[in-house]
Amino acid sequence: MAGNRTFTMIKPDAVENGYIGPILEKITSAGFKIVAMKYTQLSKRDAGEFYAIHKERPFFNELVTFMTRGPIVSAILEKENAVEDFRALIGATNPQEAAEGTIRKLYAKDIGENAVHGSDSDENAAIEGAFHFSGREIY
Ligand code: UDP
Ligand code: MG
Repeated sequence: MAGNRTFTMIKPDAVENGYIGPILEKITSAGFKIVAMKYTQLSKRDAGEFYAIHKERPFFNELVTFMTRGPIVSAILEKENAVEDFRALIGATNPQEAAEGTIRKLYAKDIGENAVHGSDSDENAAIEGAFHFSGREIY
């Protein structure tokens, strides 16, 4: 059975461009409940660890530089079928390939600076949520 939680980040490009409000509006309008949220900035070490799966990829260093250049919003979201539905809401990694109306289509610049993160599996949603939120937060 599909899980009911996913993890997201509003990335530095979207924060810089003033899109926190519009993106949160899209997320809540689509039926996601915010169960934990914070405004924060990743260290290089945190970003490298978060994206460790990509460390052999050619874009890894650029990705870490991008993800640490300014503040982000990170959040745990709840909805039935959360992971799949949220990936549909954000659209393809490359905004040029993202469907009309998706968050990346509306707010992202390119395949690197693509406005939002969304977990790709229930397992990663749990790992990523735990990476960003300690057990002391209430959620
Ligand atoms: N990325 C990049 N260049 C690429 C592919 C990905 O800079 O060619 C960045 C982009 O910010 C992306 C992140 O690395 O969101 C993680 O890549 P992934 O393939 O997991 O895409 P996502 O799951 O975010 O859609
Ligand atoms: Mg991914």
